[in-house]
Amino acid sequence: MSTEAANVKNSTVKEPGSPEKPFDSTGSETSDGRPSLITRFHSSVLDPERSSSPYRVAEAIDREGGLLWPSKGTKLRKDESPEERKERLERMAGAIKTVIECVGEDPDREGVMKTPMRYAQALMFFTQGYEQNMKDIINQAVFEEDHDEMVIVKNIDIFSLCEHHMVPFVGKVSIGYIPDKRVLGLSKLARIAEMFSRRLQVQERLTKQIAMSLQEILKPQGVAVTMEASHMCMVMRGVQKPGSSTVTSCMLGVFREDPKTREEFLRLIRSQGL
Ligand SMILES: [Zn+2]
Repeated sequence: MSTEAANVKNSTVKEPGSPEKPFDSTGSETSDGRPSLITRFHSSVLDPERSSSPYRVAEAIDREGGLLWPSKGTKLRKDESPEERKERLERMAGAIKTVIECVGEDPDREGVMKTPMRYAQALMFFTQGYEQNMKDIINQAVFEEDHDEMVIVKNIDIFSLCEHHMVPFVGKVSIGYIPDKRVLGLSKLARIAEMFSRRLQVQERLTKQIAMSLQEILKPQGVAVTMEASHMCMVMRGVQKPGSSTVTSCMLGVFREDPKTREEFLRLIRSQGL
């Protein structure tokens, strides 16, 4: 963009409430004394009051409850009484009724009349990973074992919700680790992946949480997690690219340090199985 074009653009950007005054994009304040766009952007990013990503704010495992990276409302949801749960669902259903109205439907039409409560219940199921307890999932499935070769469970189906659009992303995750005298029951790897996917997620964090929690539980020589997923927010809207998929990975310990180990993992997850 030429300087001239940039100037023209600047002079036409207006803030609601101060229609006459353009932003000063270089200084810290606009001419009417309000903080500039850049200052406000920086303070919104650096604001210490703003909640950060769940795996940065707290310890990975809440030792008392066994929750992993609990978010702000997690404990409230987990510890509520049946009456409080009923009230929560009714509140959600009310909001969804509004959504149905807003998209241009008649919420009293027979077909959608019960949709608000149905959707509220479905959404609670899609996000039940918030309530799941690591201790229950592991449930005495950590075994002392003299095994130090790679263990891989691959192509675990994942169904999650993108936290930016609250629409699904679906895909497959592969998990590998090299034990250090401790192994975990194989089905538990899939359970851990499922627990983290049943939350509002971004694929990058989901991948990392699976890897970091395994590292924490087993203290193995290393953990590797890769995930390939298709995001409905890309496929159904916006760029509309059916067939596009997003790949993420998280390598810890020997998988990060030793390229040969990492290669072996990647080769094994690519190989055609059974
Ligand atoms: Zn999205």
